[in-house]
Amino acid sequence: MANAIGKVRGHQVQNEALLFEMSSPGKKAYQLPELDVPAVTAEEALGAENVRAEISGFPEVSEVEVIRHFTRLSTWNYGIDLGLFPLGSCTMKYNPRINEAVARIEGLAWAHPYQPESLSQGAMEVIALLEQYLGEIFGMEAVTLQPAAGAHGEFTGIMLIREYLASQGNARRKVLVPDSAHGTNPATAIIAGYDVVNVKSNAAGMVDVASLASVLDEEVAALMVTNPNTVGVFEQDIAKICAMMHEKGAQVYMDGANMNALVGIARPGDFGIDVMHSNLHKTFSTPHGGGGPGAGAVGVRSHLEPFLPGPRLKKTAEGAWTWDYDRPQSIGRVKAFYGNFGVLVRALAYIMAHGGPGLKTATIDALLNANYIRALIEPYYQIAYEAKSMHECVFSDVKQARNGVKTGDIAKRLIDYGFHPYTTSFPLIVPGALMIEPTETEPKQELDAFCEAMIAIAKEAEATPEVVQHAPVMTRTPRVDEVTAARKPVVRWKPAE
Ligand SMILES: *Cc1c(COP(=O)(O)O)cnc(C)c1O
Repeated sequence: MANAIGKVRGHQVQNEALLFEMSSPGKKAYQLPELDVPAVTAEEALGAENVRAEISGFPEVSEVEVIRHFTRLSTWNYGIDLGLFPLGSCTMKYNPRINEAVARIEGLAWAHPYQPESLSQGAMEVIALLEQYLGEIFGMEAVTLQPAAGAHGEFTGIMLIREYLASQGNARRKVLVPDSAHGTNPATAIIAGYDVVNVKSNAAGMVDVASLASVLDEEVAALMVTNPNTVGVFEQDIAKICAMMHEKGAQVYMDGANMNALVGIARPGDFGIDVMHSNLHKTFSTPHGGGGPGAGAVGVRSHLEPFLPGPRLKKTAEGAWTWDYDRPQSIGRVKAFYGNFGVLVRALAYIMAHGGPGLKTATIDALLNANYIRALIEPYYQIAYEAKSMHECVFSDVKQARNGVKTGDIAKRLIDYGFHPYTTSFPLIVPGALMIEPTETEPKQELDAFCEAMIAIAKEAEATPEVVQHAPVMTRTPRVDEVTAARKPVVRWKPAE
């Protein structure tokens, strides 16, 4: 079996029925003493109309059955504590345990947003410090921590631009978006009321300055640019591009999802960006969650500061923190309270644990790891662009596709070798894309094992393409029919008739 050279070994992974199927009437996972007060039924206590009818077939199992059930299920999962997540674009970096310890400090974990300011000084200091550190990292004068995700930060940023331009007399009509952009960029522009105009990339994978110039006029409000962009390449003309935009009275928004490649090395504010977001759940090692809670901190240059969502922190004459609600030019709130506070605490813990030099080292290690992978597998896979890679490298499946093996097949075969797949088929401008981002924490041994697996799969694609096309075979569930799963999903279990 090819997996003998990979890191996968067979181990105890048991079959598991659904809890519903394990149920037998009368079993319980608890034992309570006899009531020593008069018994009251739920109907008496709550009113019959508020009591739910019996759920038929509700599972009844013992304590050890519940625990074993969920423990066994947990062994089916792949997780960061098992191995590499080579997903690119959405930086999936390791979240150090210290972040969790700090987020559980009682005074922070139990803080309530309605506590009076006098009892919230520590929590306010956390927010103020994080704003200050991020401002320093971004090269921006002010930061808001309200947005709950990157896409939410984009929305906030474009609304800031809209409000700023409107205050000057004309909000304008168009937002320019490069063809390599993440889908949230055009979606944001449209939700903010703008028309989207596409800008072509050149052969190096960068924004093509000539095609940018050809669509840039006085109706353009902003350019939304990702840097490094979604093919993992630094936009070398970024300073020139920003100057071109400013000359026409337009603003530059930077999608900072790829800040993992810049922290401590280059500051967007210094290369001309007006407003940006950073996904703290990518660059600053906070959990992604299933669609949240995240944090999409937005940094702005000073001309956009008056428009930031309120309230904003300021100091009283006595030196205490207070919330300033008097923000007449603000775009208004974008979230209840002050952002996803627990996430902000984790990001601050990460920044403080590293310090400035540590963050810079993390960035350099992320770049090194990505380029190490690129160097090892480039002889086997077609690199999408010759330009130097930053924190991620993007290949195309053209070599393997000649034998009918596509990026999705290679990704599924990786599972057989004990790795989570890389990002498949994104960015869209690269046909059959394989996007790989190792992040800074991966040890050389893990990177070597990953590259060995990738190389072994490239060889299989030559010699025995059908093996790759039918992967995965080592998993509990073999290859699924994705089309039927998407078109006719079965999401509810029903007892057999
Ligand atoms: C992840 C990502 C986004 C969206 O961020 P969310 O936090 O998922 O909303 C936007 N742009 C790029 C380039 C991304 O990688």
